[in-house]
Amino acid sequence: MDNHRTPPKPAWFDEVSEGTCRWCNEKIGPTRTGRASKAHWHKECYEEYELLFHASTTRQAVWKRDHGKCRSCGKQCDRKGANGWDMDHITPLIEANGEMKYWTLENLQTLCKPCHKAKTSAEATQRALARKTKPLN
Ligand SMILES: [Zn+2]
Ligand SMILES: [Zn+2]
Repeated sequence: MDNHRTPPKPAWFDEVSEGTCRWCNEKIGPTRTGRASKAHWHKECYEEYELLFHASTTRQAVWKRDHGKCRSCGKQCDRKGANGWDMDHITPLIEANGEMKYWTLENLQTLCKPCHKAKTSAEATQRALARKTKPLN
């Protein structure tokens, strides 16, 4: 299974009880009517989660920030189609070791398709090289 692409979930994610937030593990205040909350999310926490876990939400946010401009060559990409763009992880996820920061917007950039292809293949070459030059011990 290609698991390194999925962001890590907090340890308590599936175990929180009613009225506790899955994301920050804090109690959720009473509802507007004063009743104990049965919710599992703070609104802001859900937005944060969605941004990390829902690829389409993440893409939208990256597009909004970069306006479709390739961060490598500066070309203006289309939102979709042959002249579309790729969402690139600046530090590749294969090196993320399950650390959340690699899934956040700071590690994401807009690349045009040719630049993304070039970057991906350069990274693969580098990894292969690193494997070869690793000392045997
Ligand atoms: Zn929360
Ligand atoms: Zn480019």
